[in-house]
Amino acid sequence: MQLAQRVQQLPPYLFARISELIAQKRAAGVDVISLGIGDPDLPTPPHILDALKQAADVPVNHRYPESDGLPEFRRSIARWYQQRHGVALDPDKEVVPLIGSKEGIGHLPLCLIDPGDVALMTDPGYPVYEIGTMFAGGTSVKIPLREEDGWLPRLDEIAPDVARRAKVIWLNYPNNPTGAVCDRAFFERAVAWAKQYDVAIAHDLAYADVAYDGYRPTSILEVDGAKDVAIEFNSLSKAFNMTGWRVGMAVGNATLVNALTRVKTNLDSGIPQAIQAMAMAALDGPLDAVEDHNRIYQARRDRVVGVLRELGLRLEPPKASLYVWARLPEGERSSGEFAARLIDATGVVVTPGAAYGEAGEGYIRISLTTPDDRLDEAMRRLSAFAKGQSVL
Ligand SMILES: *Cc1c(COP(=O)(O)O)cnc(C)c1O
Repeated sequence: MQLAQRVQQLPPYLFARISELIAQKRAAGVDVISLGIGDPDLPTPPHILDALKQAADVPVNHRYPESDGLPEFRRSIARWYQQRHGVALDPDKEVVPLIGSKEGIGHLPLCLIDPGDVALMTDPGYPVYEIGTMFAGGTSVKIPLREEDGWLPRLDEIAPDVARRAKVIWLNYPNNPTGAVCDRAFFERAVAWAKQYDVAIAHDLAYADVAYDGYRPTSILEVDGAKDVAIEFNSLSKAFNMTGWRVGMAVGNATLVNALTRVKTNLDSGIPQAIQAMAMAALDGPLDAVEDHNRIYQARRDRVVGVLRELGLRLEPPKASLYVWARLPEGERSSGEFAARLIDATGVVVTPGAAYGEAGEGYIRISLTTPDDRLDEAMRRLSAFAKGQSVL
């Protein structure tokens, strides 16, 4: 038996050494605290769970859903975009619900990429853009992001022949892993650039509603003419603590939404209807929980920022996303080495920036989704380590 190239080409787990170290520490009885994973620790709000419980008793929800989602859920998404972003969407042509936004991100390349085609994406970046492209037989060209540019790509430095060959560019603001945000002017430049070179824009807005200090993330669809070129992925996972329920959406350009819907019709049978009922309860219901979560993450962010600075890491407190992205102290080169040293000395796990691409080397990422008491313990250990005290 021989597996297909696309499976053989899947990257190996980059930080085998770190997993090994975690396993060793646990075996030695160390209470390991992971700050590596971006999965909200707080529960899904009760009014959303109630919608699931009620929907479970409705027999029609026991049967196959439609691949393109319940019409009332698509209308609910359109209403949300209107209220939240001032963007008008046709719920029948410009909206498709997804089994978590990752599902749509993984499948979109099947709509745009033929074997040998080029997709542009940023480095560092969320790995699914590249893997989805590879599954479709395409090639990824990485645009390096730099701290001095606020982690925004220099679109005018993309070589014109590469731009002309590219079928799609992936963007993600608020950004994972860097926590960077962009303003409307950047999206205006991106839309103009995409039109100039006839490239589709796939914007990942997973952190649309995870933001701090009064900052409100922008949808690329707020820009005039964006719908001519852009599809946007959005998700209930992070804002409503619903990662476990798997529900998100793609909205925007009708041709792309239609193509993605057709691909999905042939691969999956849509989101369980009881889960669509939850999603409607989330989008149509009170948003106090979203604000409460953001206050909790913001307080964690402020706690983490101080301790990371004690360790000599350099950083800007993020305005959005679930991540603090920090530059290694002067003289430190390898994010993997640094992370390994922290685990060894403190039992605290951070993600090496190199896991998100070459341009992420020299940085680490800390997630704000660890419960307060565990995060406090992790920060106590890191602070003691910074002072040269023994921790474990
Ligand atoms: C979490 C995350 C997603 C996936 O979210 P789901 O809707 O749960 O699939 C997509 N993009 C980025 C950048 C993320 O961090």
